[in-house]
Amino acid sequence: MNVQAQLAKGSFQCHCGRVHQCDTTLLRIERGVLKELGTILAGFHHLLVISDGNTRPLCGQAVIQVLKDQGFTVDEAFFNQKTVLVPDEKAIAAVEAVYTEGTQAIIGVGSGVINDLSKYIAFTHGIPSMIVATAPSMDGFASSGAVMMLGGFKVTCTRKAPRWIVGDIDILTAAPMEMIRSGIGDILGKYSALSDWKLAHILSTDPMCDLIYQMVEEELEACVDNIPKIMERDPDAIGRLMESLAIVGISLAYQGSSRPASGSEHLISHFFELTSIMKNKPYFPHGIDVGYAAVIAEILRKQLLQEDPGTFATDFNRREWEAGLQDVFGEMAEDIITLQDDAKTYTTDRSALIRENWEAIQDILGQTPGVEFMVEKLEAAGFHLDEFIALYGWDSIRSGVLYATDLKTRYTLLELLSDTGYLKRYATALKF
Ligand SMILES: [Zn+2]
Ligand SMILES: [Zn+2]
Repeated sequence: MNVQAQLAKGSFQCHCGRVHQCDTTLLRIERGVLKELGTILAGFHHLLVISDGNTRPLCGQAVIQVLKDQGFTVDEAFFNQKTVLVPDEKAIAAVEAVYTEGTQAIIGVGSGVINDLSKYIAFTHGIPSMIVATAPSMDGFASSGAVMMLGGFKVTCTRKAPRWIVGDIDILTAAPMEMIRSGIGDILGKYSALSDWKLAHILSTDPMCDLIYQMVEEELEACVDNIPKIMERDPDAIGRLMESLAIVGISLAYQGSSRPASGSEHLISHFFELTSIMKNKPYFPHGIDVGYAAVIAEILRKQLLQEDPGTFATDFNRREWEAGLQDVFGEMAEDIITLQDDAKTYTTDRSALIRENWEAIQDILGQTPGVEFMVEKLEAAGFHLDEFIALYGWDSIRSGVLYATDLKTRYTLLELLSDTGYLKRYATALKF
């Protein structure tokens, strides 16, 4: 698919019956693209640039200089820190303090968090945002969702995707290796996410679209083939990875949700991020958690494939569940219980539907490439399961499998395991 041509259309009627739309109109990952900023932003005069202690020296200063040289008025929200910026109320207030009535666009220089913050602020004021990507670290660049930390909760706010996504290949190639590996991990998680999407299409209400599915699958395959070159920092391979991440993000805008790119593996990764933040403990960058979680999901997927559907029966025990949530999530447990009660997650009996569709479900579970393949690809990208176990420990990993599904109301392999009565059994016995 020619993505740039597709983007230029804005919205289009798809053969799946829906109209797909993306607010991003331009994706340019190339050498020297910063010099083009004035042309790309023609018609705008007053901009607000957001950067932090890592991205300002790397690229933010150059962006500001280029824009000033080309006659723009530039205000700056600079987070003078090298540690991970948390996109919370405090960060929002810091940008709002610099925003003026005349600001016409927000220019974020960075990757995940700065892009989310830019999208969030731009939407509040009804103006467009741009992301100047500094690392190919995750797939949210073109997503319309802004993942924020509000009231202590990780919430995805519906905003607009950045109108422009640009990245200079030389800057992306020099990104920290951990960020690059995070981008690979986020993409490798798509085997699991796409599989879960197909499950949800049968067992829940998620609409399927072949075009979007193929977009994601194509980028996944391109990345898998390129892992050795990406790890050598080959500029073309890194540029391609960045493009893949952006295109996956565009597919999410088309779908109107993160469904094509985020399934059980993302729920498990969210669990580690959230519980680590709660306990003030270290955690891996997003895509690295996703990569490891994708191995866990693959283990569970292939286990269920072997079971006899005659044994499927939910073994949900409410008292045990509530106590477990309180133990793992503390104060947040109450909100999680309400979320799942409102969605009728544990009062919906899907066992007949699952048995009826077991052949199709088996096909779906069987189509993913297998545990060995996942481990091999991740190892090629410098992931070592020992490091994952060492950071989180088995108790937390098993809790993650058991309770990650409760963080959202999204049908994935984890809910299928719960519906069939295997979730707790697999979580308790998990090893690799
Ligand atoms: Zn479609
Ligand atoms: Zn992700």
